[in-house]
Order: sequence, then C-alpha cells, then structure tokens
Amino acid sequence: MSDAYRPLYARFGAVLQRNEPLARYTVARLGGPADVLLTVSEIADLVDAITLAHQHGIPWRVLGGGANVLAADAGFRGLVIVNHAKLERYETDQVIAASGMHLSTLARHCMSRGLSGLEWAVSVPGTLGGAVINNAGAHGGDMSGSLRWIELLCLNDQPHMVVWSVSQMDYAYRHSALKGTHGRYVVLMATLKVTPGHDPAELNATADGFVAHRKQTQPPGASLGSIFKNPPGDHAGRLIEAAGLKGFAIGGVQISSVHANFFINNRQGTASDYRALIDHARETVLKRFGVTLELEIEYLGDW
Ligand SMILES: Cc1cc2nc3c(=O)[nH]c(=O)nc-3n(C[C@H](O)[C@H](O)[C@H](O)COP(=O)(O)OP(=O)(O)OC[C@H]3O[C@@H](n4cnc5c(N)ncnc54)[C@H](O)[C@@H]3O)c2cc1C
Repeated sequence: MSDAYRPLYARFGAVLQRNEPLARYTVARLGGPADVLLTVSEIADLVDAITLAHQHGIPWRVLGGGANVLAADAGFRGLVIVNHAKLERYETDQVIAASGMHLSTLARHCMSRGLSGLEWAVSVPGTLGGAVINNAGAHGGDMSGSLRWIELLCLNDQPHMVVWSVSQMDYAYRHSALKGTHGRYVVLMATLKVTPGHDPAELNATADGFVAHRKQTQPPGASLGSIFKNPPGDHAGRLIEAAGLKGFAIGGVQISSVHANFFINNRQGTASDYRALIDHARETVLKRFGVTLELEIEYLGDW
C-alpha cells in the first residue's frame, strides 16, 4: 500500500478495509475490489476522508446505495467511501438531512410526522446523495421538485463548503450539473420541501400504492433499475422489447422478461456480462429503430 494512504490510516485505522469487493455494496451485486473502502456514518468522517484523499492524490469515489452504478470486475484503484451518514432535522415546511440517509426511510419518516411531499420517493432505492446527483424520480415526483438547498464539499482546488440552491443544479430528466463530475463535489446535506398538517395514514396509503404498483410492473432480483433513460416520446423498455431482446442473456445477466429496461444478474453474472448486454441492447435498438439510447446508470472503476 502506497505511503499516500498513511494519513488516512492515521485518521481511520482499522475501519479501512483493503481489497474489499464492491459487489457487497452495489444493488446489482457486481464489482471487484476497491483498493481501500471506508464506510462512514457521520458527515464529519465523510469530509475528513475525502479531504485527506484529495490532499494526498488518492483517487476516490463516494458510493451511496450502489443502486445506479455498474462497478467493474477489476474494481476501483483508490478509495471508495460508502456513505451511511445519517442525520435528519424537521422544520415546519422542510426537512434537512444527511446525504447518506436512505431516501425511502427519509420519506417514511416525513410521512409519519404528517409531512407530505416525498411520497414519490418511498420506493426509490439508494441514498439521498445519489438521488440528488441523478435527479431521481418516480410516480410524478422527482428531486428537482423536492429540493431546496444542498451543502456541498467542493474540491476544485482547496476543499471548501458551498451551498447551492436547486436552481444551480441544472436539473433535467435523470440529469444534474453534478452527475459525472467525479472527484469534484460531494453532497453532504440536503434541504427538501414538505408541507405539514397531513394525515400520516393517508400519506402511507398513497406510498403503499406506489410500492404495490412497482411490485406489479418491475422485476425482483439484482438489477440497477432502468439502465437507459427513456428517449423523448418513447420508452427504452418498449424499444428493447420491440427489438426482440426480452429474455436475451449474456453470461449470467438477462434482460428481464417483465420489463426490458431492467437487466438482472442471476448471481453468476459478471460486470463484463452486464456491460456487454448494455452495449448489445444499445446497438440493436440503434440498428432497428435509429434511436441512440442514453445511459441512466453510471460506470465505476477500472473498465
Ligand atoms: C430496483 C431499482 C429501481 C429503481 N427505481 C428508480 C426509480 O424509480 N427512479 C429513479 O430515479 N431511480 C431508480 N433507480 C436508480 C437508483 O435508485 C437512483 O439512481 C438512486 O438515486 C441512486 O442512489 P444511490 O445512493 O444508490 O447512488 P449510487 O449508485 O451509490 O451513486 C450514484 C452516483 O452518485 C454518486 N454519489 C452518490 N452519493 C454521492 C454523494 N453524497 N456526493 C456525490 N456523489 C455521490 C456516485 O459516485 C455515483 O456516481 C432504481 C434502481 C434500482 C436498483
């Protein structure tokens, strides 16, 4: 292990894990080892780890729930920080939360207090931080409609904190100004709009309806949710299905027979299988329909 890691070991010691398989931290259950992996449960630890990595030239990447990343079989050369930082503060018409909170948990906590606004988020896997980056959305709601402010650690030069309003996020469908800017910004906290005075039972009933609908329309198993964004006026799943690819498999990864934009790892698959299937689906749809599908997920690691 290079000397660059010494300050990290001095600060975090034995909780740093060497050669830790990323498959344990991704929803698709894929990904080889990170050189070093750290799980944090406090924002202060997240800031310290990234600041030290940045100052000592160690490549790093934050992972939330691993629900939107395909991690390479070769893993990641550097430090992966798994963000489990939790903190939630409720004010009259907003909730302020740490980026490592599970979005669905935060949504349920709001509902139980009679705060409406995050019901859409109740079945979206992953963390608040990942949702802010990807403008996660479901059932007619999304982060762009819920977010007020975020607190960011900015690493363009010397690490410093900045506060951005939602208008600075350049939000569009599954896009933000921060998506793909790896190594430059970390979402620490987010402030979300809610409206008080609702009946928790009614909010929970709405959310339960969303969960039930998802169970009916989406397959279970180790996937990354929707692989491609829906092209304007169409659905990626419809195009993949129309190209005859429902059920098509490469190695241990199969295009779902329930929803063709979901690719399922049958637990024998590799990240290379997964990526080959993505490339195949994209090429086939382009050849058949002249439509270039854009990825919703992101790649992580040494490809
Ligand atoms: C079964 C299934 C269903 C899904 N359904 C939906 C859906 O309905 N709607 C939807 O929008 N998405 C859906 N997704 C995708 C996924 O849930 C969202 O994209 C989610 O917001 C990802 O959050 P995460 O914490 O898992 O992010 P990760 O996958 O951990 O990370 C995503 C990206 O954000 C970066 N990142 C994570 N946290 C931070 C942070 N704090 N600061 C800076 N960068 C960070 C990572 O480096 C990575 O580049 C689904 C996924 C699955 C597996």
